[in-house]
Amino acid sequence: MERSISTKCIHLEEEEDCIKHYGAISYPIYQTATYAHMGVGKSTGFDYSRLQNPTREHLEKVVASLEGGISALAFSSGMAAISALMELFKPGDHLIVDSDLYGGSIRLFNNISKKNGITFTSINCCEGNVEQYITKDTKAIYVETPTNPMMNVADIESLADVAKRHNIWLVVDNTFLSPYFQNPLKLGADIVIHSGTKYLGGHNDTLAGFLVTSRQDIDEKLRFNIKTTGAGLAPFDSWLILRGIKTLGIRMERAQQNAHRLAEWLGRQPQVKRVIYPGLKTHPGYEIMKKQSRGFGAMITFETESKEFALAVLERVRMIKFAESLGGVETLITYPVTQTHADVPKDILAKNGITESVLRLSVGIEDINDIIGELESVFNSIEGL
Ligand SMILES: *Cc1c(COP(=O)(O)O)cnc(C)c1O
Repeated sequence: MERSISTKCIHLEEEEDCIKHYGAISYPIYQTATYAHMGVGKSTGFDYSRLQNPTREHLEKVVASLEGGISALAFSSGMAAISALMELFKPGDHLIVDSDLYGGSIRLFNNISKKNGITFTSINCCEGNVEQYITKDTKAIYVETPTNPMMNVADIESLADVAKRHNIWLVVDNTFLSPYFQNPLKLGADIVIHSGTKYLGGHNDTLAGFLVTSRQDIDEKLRFNIKTTGAGLAPFDSWLILRGIKTLGIRMERAQQNAHRLAEWLGRQPQVKRVIYPGLKTHPGYEIMKKQSRGFGAMITFETESKEFALAVLERVRMIKFAESLGGVETLITYPVTQTHADVPKDILAKNGITESVLRLSVGIEDINDIIGELESVFNSIEGL
């Protein structure tokens, strides 16, 4: 019987038969750059830590097992992972990318990948008319679902069908839900991306990134890239992410429960014009998410009555931190227009509805009454101005 995802976060089945590492329950940190050889042509399987390191390899196996991939590679950040992925394309190649993506990914595509001769068509992939944009040069469809920060939901299975029919790849950045709630490879995607900095690490204490694939040919190319370009995750950071993953299940459950309560509360506040949380039945992506995911995550975007109100909230929160990033135990509030999406062209911001009165919350695992309590007193203090 296949083990449940919560158990896979804690136990890697293939390591269980033998007591290695003196029986250490916590996987050791192999803080070494290089490895001795027993003789000419005799390797322990580890030659140099840019190529591979036991701690990183253990983490990669855990992440591959969580996503149901044949292999995973751990990078020094999410952007390092996406950069390594983009090295798989050559000048003239064309990608269809969703128009509502993490701002850093858009910056990479527009400022570096384009310079390298790769072309892009940016469309709303959640509207389901992707096929008409495929050309003879198209090599991949690239999406996040739900998207950041507008929480649009794409149907992964139907995108995978389109990709298969045209013999191109479907790439899904699964950072927002983590493998605990969604497994795109099992729905037909070819490559899954994670910013491990977010839910996988879970504690806002280190950066990491992952590429996970279900295909041998892609894995071989990516391994060559990480060996050649050198952005592999360091041993200590690998260990931090391993430790974070052990509690992924209970963190995701608690954060989601909090997010649901908070989304409902926000919806009742007169200063809030719109709450975007896919776990609300009124969200247009609700039914698709019920079909393809095991949960709705803990990210909420909401539109306040004015730019002034949004700015006042950011100035006044105390326990809730005004900070970029997401997916940690701490609740964070972000201002997408000047933070995560500052480099996104203005017309795309406007098209996606990312205005100056929009705020984004990454709901943490604090007691929900303390989170709501703080926002309530912040909201009331602004009204009293
Ligand atoms: C943060 C993030 C990234 C980039 O990851 P880093 O670890 O910050 O480099 C990519 N995609 C999404 C959806 C993210 O939230």
